[in-house]
Amino acid sequence: MSKIILTGDRPTGRLHVGHYVGSLRRRVELQNSGEYDKVFIMIADAQALTDNFDNPEKVRENIIEVALDYLSVGLDPAKSTIFIQSQIQELCELCFYYMNLVTVSRLQRNPTVKSEIQLRKFETSIPVGFFTYPISQAADITAFKATTVPVGEDQLPMLEQAKEIVHKFNTTYAPVLVDPEVLLPENDACRRLPGTDGKAKMSKSLGNCIYLADDADTVSQKIKTMYTDPLHLKVSDPGHLEGNTVFTYLDAFCRPEHFERFWPDYANLEELKAHYQRGGLGDVKVKKFLEKVMQETLEPIRARRKELEKDIPAIYEILKKGSEEAREVAAQTLSEVKSAMRINYFEDMDLIRRQSEKYM
Ligand code: ATP
Ligand code: MG
Repeated sequence: MSKIILTGDRPTGRLHVGHYVGSLRRRVELQNSGEYDKVFIMIADAQALTDNFDNPEKVRENIIEVALDYLSVGLDPAKSTIFIQSQIQELCELCFYYMNLVTVSRLQRNPTVKSEIQLRKFETSIPVGFFTYPISQAADITAFKATTVPVGEDQLPMLEQAKEIVHKFNTTYAPVLVDPEVLLPENDACRRLPGTDGKAKMSKSLGNCIYLADDADTVSQKIKTMYTDPLHLKVSDPGHLEGNTVFTYLDAFCRPEHFERFWPDYANLEELKAHYQRGGLGDVKVKKFLEKVMQETLEPIRARRKELEKDIPAIYEILKKGSEEAREVAAQTLSEVKSAMRINYFEDMDLIRRQSEKYM
């Protein structure tokens, strides 16, 4: 069986370092590994509209931002198909049929949807489109017969939902859909990177992000004011690692060679953590180290972005070509889905013959 990747992002803002450690970094590795037959990367504008329906300009403006971020981190249109969700109308059709396979109470139980409803203060006026976006996401994944979906931890309930739909479809109709497997990032810090304010998740919608496109001074400023350990008042006080954003970011970004280069007093992160916990190590020093590590990671991404920004029409061309390619694949799956569901009347010569015989 082919190995196929599908993943994507909502164009609700520029991409941030949470996306980088939670998904983008791994995507680039997978793309370059040569182990996958196809890699599909989707800019989920239709999904973004489910909670931004009254702000289409925001979604429209951010498509190019997300595309620039993709190419800057090393996604390569020669190896990955980068496309825009709304341009693949087959996805709506799949979603419509999958809706029959899911109950309202099942959707209500989805923990990510629950917390997003709270966050967006929808209370009792939840748009139906938003409520059903896990079904639409199942359509995105299955349309490309994805075997592997590399995403952050918040997407686990969506994958579970998609797997249930695949199972239900395949047992009700015919085994057409492929069961997708989630690929989570390597450690807890990367699975759900907190915001610079220490809140549970860095998120475009919460305004607590370090963006990939932030200039060096902005990154520096954001690290300086980052949430640490509120009990660590004097340098001599013992420090806590739990909920300490600076250390979570080090877990996500730092490698042993960073110590060799930037802070040879310590051999590795474990030694640094032990000193912090004993006391006698100030937040400012740790933040300076984190800044060096992060600037080193972000600098080449920023430089590539500057180059790419010089030819915006070329980026739209990449998205257009990608969308055309993606559409062909989705159309093939939709056609298989429709025959499995017995709604392929005009292609089924057997049906036409049998019905004529009935009236002979
Ligand atoms: P929004 O606030 O509009 O939902 P977002 O910042 O949550 O935006 P998405 O486009 O919803 O970003 O998510 C895209 C991908 O990035 C998903 O795979 C998601 O799991 C991952 N991701 C998003 N935020 C983080 C984070 N803080 N840590 C790790 N992964 C993340
Ligand atoms: Mg999100």
